[in-house]
Amino acid sequence: MSLLVVEGVSKSFGGNRVLKEVSFSLKEGEILGIVGPNGSGKTTLLNILSGIVKQDKGSVIFMGKPVDRLRPYARARMGIGRTFQITRLFTNLSVLENVLIPLHYGGGDADPGRAEELLSMVGLLEMKDRKAGSLSLAQRKRLELARALSVNPRLLLLDEVFAGLNPVSIREILDLLKEIHSLTGVAMILVEHVLKALFQITRRVIVLSEGRIIYEGEPEGMARSEEVIKAYLGERYASGGK
Ligand code: ADP
Repeated sequence: MSLLVVEGVSKSFGGNRVLKEVSFSLKEGEILGIVGPNGSGKTTLLNILSGIVKQDKGSVIFMGKPVDRLRPYARARMGIGRTFQITRLFTNLSVLENVLIPLHYGGGDADPGRAEELLSMVGLLEMKDRKAGSLSLAQRKRLELARALSVNPRLLLLDEVFAGLNPVSIREILDLLKEIHSLTGVAMILVEHVLKALFQITRRVIVLSEGRIIYEGEPEGMARSEEVIKAYLGERYASGGK
């Protein structure tokens, strides 16, 4: 059975059709990359999966059950964890408190022992009493991961987890994600611009362009797809790249 099935999901904001009949599925423990030019609908898709945005059409089925009517916290309790591109930490609270809060809302006990376990998993235990606002970007991303893991997810949604990091931090976060995957077997969907890093953790990518899936398969195949070159590589390289 698939862990996640997305069936014909469409979404418009005003007259702007942001997602058009998007369908794909994910197996238990699988890692999937979602890439595409800016504005192609990637974040909207993650928001629909986590329940922050409601689709106009189509359905999201998680562990065999439609979750369309469930709010974000209910989906989190079912095992959908997520991180945000712009980290959403409580900067005035300690690192430990930042993990205790989602533990509490995740339906479990706000158990400091469990929070410390999660901090240890992401390599932040020594920083547990520091204010979250004093952490570096790479450390904030680790803390976001600990928060997302607090719901014991079966599916982890990661929004541009490598963005803004230097090569050393990218390597460290990559190793951490691999470790989390082998420890917990959690499935992951990574929305990502840093393709070099993404391709080291997944063998399957979906390319979105203007709200449509234009490619699904191994990373190598992307470079051979006319549509991808036009929509994705075309934009980035033809215009001088970024
Ligand atoms: P990506 O993550 O691929 O850059 P997004 O999903 O952020 O793409 O955005 C896709 C399109 O949807 C963009 O044109 C964006 O302006 C629009 N959009 C996203 N969220 C909203 C919103 N809440 N209200 C109106 N338009 C939105």
